[in-house]
Amino acid sequence: MSRRSTKILKTVLDTLYYTKGYKALAPITQGVGAIFMLHQVDPAPIQDFEPNRILKVSPDFLEQVIDGVLEAGYDVISLDEAHWRLQEGEFERSFVCFTFDDGYRDNWEHAYPIFRQYDLPFAIYVPCEFADGRGDLWWLALEHLIRDNDRFVVRMHGEDRVFECATIEDKDATYHTVYWWLRGLDETEARGIVADLCRSVGFDQQALCETLVMDWQEIKAIANDPLVTIGGHTKGHFALSRLSLAQARFQVEENLTRLEHELGTRPTHFSFPYGCEQSAGPREFALLREMGMKTAVTTRKGLIYAEHYRHLTALPRVSLNGDYQDMRYLTVLLSGAPFVVWNRFRKIDAA
Ligand SMILES: [Zn+2]
Repeated sequence: MSRRSTKILKTVLDTLYYTKGYKALAPITQGVGAIFMLHQVDPAPIQDFEPNRILKVSPDFLEQVIDGVLEAGYDVISLDEAHWRLQEGEFERSFVCFTFDDGYRDNWEHAYPIFRQYDLPFAIYVPCEFADGRGDLWWLALEHLIRDNDRFVVRMHGEDRVFECATIEDKDATYHTVYWWLRGLDETEARGIVADLCRSVGFDQQALCETLVMDWQEIKAIANDPLVTIGGHTKGHFALSRLSLAQARFQVEENLTRLEHELGTRPTHFSFPYGCEQSAGPREFALLREMGMKTAVTTRKGLIYAEHYRHLTALPRVSLNGDYQDMRYLTVLLSGAPFVVWNRFRKIDAA
């Protein structure tokens, strides 16, 4: 999410909180549940320049959220159970699911012990190239490049553009410009550009992946725990709607087959890489349904409503991210009010 939309959403959250508007809206906006989206769980303090901090929460915050939802009377359930409740229309109690994308090693080190201690289920969505140690975490590689260098050159629109980035402000601005320019390109081309930049300054992208994400041994160990659901997240973490249908199907099929081969069970839950409107749309929702997924989640913002039983492969999530590590936001988010405001008063967004 861009810094601008983060700022707008925070303003919406604060306004709803301080005016108590969320309480007034809750009777109409309250859902039957929520699926939380997380990535990294890391106790290290946030650095001055860390644009991907939105993908991190601290273990303390994760625990506070778990305490908060349990105290508020939510059931913390698995994706299988959420699927069952949606199919059966069983909504006596509200639910939350915790889901983690990409299979970061800190999930094992810092999140798993917390869920174990509370005896609560959660899910991890694994792209197989990440577990192979050759995943392309280009958005983090770009962050490292800009952190470690005060100046670099990128060939944009046919000409060399020099980025001077000695200060935190300049680094932030550079990251923002280059990241969103890359997101607009063909993904293979964009990744090639980052790989070239890495090579030019001797930054080892493979080491980044090997350090940050779980290998197969760790995934197998964690998957052995019945509290853990392993879901699919494509072979190489590509935005599916930017690929041909055949390529998109290949990315999903390879991922599910490999996970089945490694873990002995074929996943029935899936998360769309990037997951925004530009990365997953009706064609992908239909594809994942056709490929037998019980659920598939996006990064569209929203709570789960009873009507989502018709859109089980287009489920929205509530991002628990570094920018909102404040319990007052959680209360407002779970009222559903900010998403309904954000989505222009539409509760279901699966188009
Ligand atoms: Zn991902």
